[in-house]
Amino acid sequence: MVLAQLGGSISRAIQQMSNATIIDEKVLNDCLNEITRALLQSDVQFKLVRDMQTNIKKIVNLDDLAAGHNKRKIIQQAIFNELCKMLDPGKPSFTPKKGKTSVVMFVGLQGSGKTTTCTKYAYYHQKKGWKPALVCADTFRAGAFDQLKQNATKAKIPFYGSYMESDPVKIAVEGVERFKKENCDLIIVDTSGRHKQEAALFEEMRQVSEATKPDLVIFVMDSSIGQAAFDQAQAFKQSVAVGAVIVTKMDGHAKGGGALSAVAATKSPVIFIGTGEHMDEFEVFDVKPFVSRLLG
Ligand code: GDP
Repeated sequence: MVLAQLGGSISRAIQQMSNATIIDEKVLNDCLNEITRALLQSDVQFKLVRDMQTNIKKIVNLDDLAAGHNKRKIIQQAIFNELCKMLDPGKPSFTPKKGKTSVVMFVGLQGSGKTTTCTKYAYYHQKKGWKPALVCADTFRAGAFDQLKQNATKAKIPFYGSYMESDPVKIAVEGVERFKKENCDLIIVDTSGRHKQEAALFEEMRQVSEATKPDLVIFVMDSSIGQAAFDQAQAFKQSVAVGAVIVTKMDGHAKGGGALSAVAATKSPVIFIGTGEHMDEFEVFDVKPFVSRLLG
């Protein structure tokens, strides 16, 4: 189920509840079951959905609500709040400051859109007057450096990488050092991915992180990975200190629920979403407007 459909299904469930003459236990349960079904179909992790349902029922205790209470409003508000809570880990991520050097390391599986997102992130800040730079520490995938170089050149962003060097840690450290000397305020380290989660990848991420001491590690996730999102995000979080999430390919037919799972797994907020292949198809992510839009 794509996000727009998910929003539609939830809105419909709420509308149906609102149309009922009396809101009793059965009407509330029907509404919550409908929402549960929609969320599961959108690949939100089962445990998250179950917790949400339990929380809403705890908040909306029909017996305790006096006749004068607007039950519909209270239920709607509880649903809105619970959806927001799913996407809000409770603390903001580290935010780089313009004019002050920050190192931001990107991690994620191959094909997640990591390299594209690194450039989008750099370009977004460059437009706002920052001095970003890109470091290609992906020595695993042939062509990775060329791709980053191409993107960076197009956006006129300085870059660093090597065709010869095979040690990602060495390149990452050299690149970060160079751009620190050049007074760049946003040094972005693109790392390698693999097709699947494997020990060698996580060990490499740990080493690059240890050597470059990033201020922020961003986990990049393809929105279409579905139920695998929770485990994948958690696996990265266990090897590096993931502090934020960027969800890519939100323009496609993706099931958006994975984003909610990634937030839960990493206890980190989604800060941007990718909405296309182009450099400027990139949006700041805000929980409340997102959920409002979702609910129509
Ligand atoms: P990496 O292997 O993780 O570095 O992934 P890439 O950056 O090479 O991206 C893989 C593919 O996904 C490329 O074809 C990108 O153009 C595409 N891609 C990345 N982000 C988005 C997005 O937000 N929307 C769409 N439609 N495609 C994207």
